[in-house]
Amino acid sequence: MGRRIVMLGAPGAGKGTQAVRIAGRLAAPHISTGDIFRAHLKNGTAIGRQVQPYLDAGQLVPDELTCAIVADRLQADDCRGGYVLDGFPRSVPQAEMLTKLLRDHGDDLDMAIDIAVPDEEIVGRLAARRFCPKCGKIFNLKFSPSGNGKKCDAPGCDGTLERRSDDEEETIRERLRVYHETTEPIIGYYESQGILRTVPAAKASADDVFAKVEELLRTAGAA
Ligand code: AMP
Repeated sequence: MGRRIVMLGAPGAGKGTQAVRIAGRLAAPHISTGDIFRAHLKNGTAIGRQVQPYLDAGQLVPDELTCAIVADRLQADDCRGGYVLDGFPRSVPQAEMLTKLLRDHGDDLDMAIDIAVPDEEIVGRLAARRFCPKCGKIFNLKFSPSGNGKKCDAPGCDGTLERRSDDEEETIRERLRVYHETTEPIIGYYESQGILRTVPAAKASADDVFAKVEELLRTAGAA
């Protein structure tokens, strides 16, 4: 099978962590719209200034801008053999746009992997989430702590772990609300296309979830 994969799941379900691992296993790029927006913010670009209010409020950046950024990224040479999309699509119009973009090139998505975690677990997970501002590695104080205390344990990196500014409780609740209202309907969209695969991830470590994901990929002949 091809290797065009979309990751689905509530914020904090661990889809970013899994996306990075899948991309490593398939030697395909990991494309996170959240990471792209945060890089624009950090670099003070015009796009960064445009998206900042949405990120600060936990709301979605308008589809037109988001889709334009993704369409541009998917044209890069490194996407030819496939990719793992993380955080996109996040609304049914974005999913429809992606289908159309691919079909215009005679392509299709191969798999949508939903990392399923119940709401009551999400808030606790996000409050415990940390990231390394130097290399981007994601940690969770409960589920996947750093082996190096408050510092990053990636080889050659010793960044001091930070909490994302939108992982504060009020913003978390807004992001969850937006997820249920706008993003969750995508699950039905991909189910009807026959490419949805659900990975139950309640109370599971990142390693346990990845073992299930690997099984899926093997069964599909992707890895
Ligand atoms: P994430 O890192 O995926 O949780 O994304 C962080 C924030 O970036 C979200 O809360 C949104 O404000 C914005 N964002 C990321 N991906 C999208 C998308 N596909 N559509 C709209 N906004 C997005």
